[in-house]
Amino acid sequence: MNIGVLGAGQLGRMLALAGYPLANRFFFLDTSGKPSAGIGDVWIHTDRTDDSSSLEAFLDSVDLVTYEFEHLPVELVRDIERHKPVYPGSTALEVCQNRAEEKALFDRLSIPTPAYRLVASADELASAVRELGAPVVAKSVTEGYDGKGQAVLHTSDDAEGAWQRIGHSRLIVEAFVDFVREVSIIAVRGRNGDVAFYPMAENVHVNGILRYSLAPLPDLEDSVQRVADDYIRTLLDELDYVGVLALELFQTRDGRLLANEMAPRVHNSGHWSLDGAVTSQFENHLRAIQGLPLGATHARRPTCMVNIIGRMGDAAELLAIEDAHLHLYGKGERPGRKLGHVNVLADSTAALLKKVRHCAGRLPDAPEPRFSFE
Ligand code: AMP
Repeated sequence: MNIGVLGAGQLGRMLALAGYPLANRFFFLDTSGKPSAGIGDVWIHTDRTDDSSSLEAFLDSVDLVTYEFEHLPVELVRDIERHKPVYPGSTALEVCQNRAEEKALFDRLSIPTPAYRLVASADELASAVRELGAPVVAKSVTEGYDGKGQAVLHTSDDAEGAWQRIGHSRLIVEAFVDFVREVSIIAVRGRNGDVAFYPMAENVHVNGILRYSLAPLPDLEDSVQRVADDYIRTLLDELDYVGVLALELFQTRDGRLLANEMAPRVHNSGHWSLDGAVTSQFENHLRAIQGLPLGATHARRPTCMVNIIGRMGDAAELLAIEDAHLHLYGKGERPGRKLGHVNVLADSTAALLKKVRHCAGRLPDAPEPRFSFE
């Protein structure tokens, strides 16, 4: 099958790498003007080019369409849906682009979230701080990612400054969660409604950017995994979703899970599955959208994904680590840029942590790895 991918970054590249053994061919439509996939056939279709011939050529080449990036014009995706099947559909995309709609969906499906308010002025922001109690996190309703468009407020006096800094007309204001850890659940739903769940991962973020994902969690109660499975299954079924969905959650001291946000695509916190799970999230996404049976999702060994951000380090030193697997995205160094990741595997979590520290020590900008269960 010829697979069309909207977006042409590293997630698209890894989808293609997973799809070649299935004899898939890949065609990318880039809407950013800066494709980096470095693989497959790429067409550029931006507001500036506004050239329908690239879109037509893309559509003529593909059997079905998916996406690896959710900040796409919904109108474009609806237009594509009139010509080719799109998995997951534009409704999931629309919900995930808007934090207010996402939270409304969580509320409707009884998936708990941090307490929140929607505000449209600095005065309303100040009232929300008083109602929810400081600290709070204010986030732009649209267009935010990797901690961008966000501010933490410690008193209602911070409202005017935060409003100006974020510079959006609508914000969502959330009570600051004193979480034990950040976790994610990734699941995949096939065209026939079958669902498979990956073991939950613990995710370590620094300044809003993911640095480490470790799975499976050595101290996770089965009941907590089942709660996360139930939440994501409810979302998948409600959206009649096909493909991989990621749900990021906070785990609180009393073991509860609060939904933070979801992503309608393969996700950075699932990259560990490339080497650590029986079937990677990329392969399972491709199986799902093509109507093929889903592959097993359990972990082969304890695995940690270490993101390479900003500066590269020495690839030979990373590859010298036993059962460490380097995935590079073919991008140039730049502060804050995701250049690749290393998946490190070991027989036990204790052995894994030692290896992860060794690996982090070989990466110039890696923060100290710290996990909740240590
Ligand atoms: P987000 O873009 O919503 O994923 O937020 C980026 C990061 O900010 C998260 O991974 C958390 O580390 C932190 N964060 C976001 N919302 C909250 C919250 N309500 N309480 C505490 N920390 C938060």
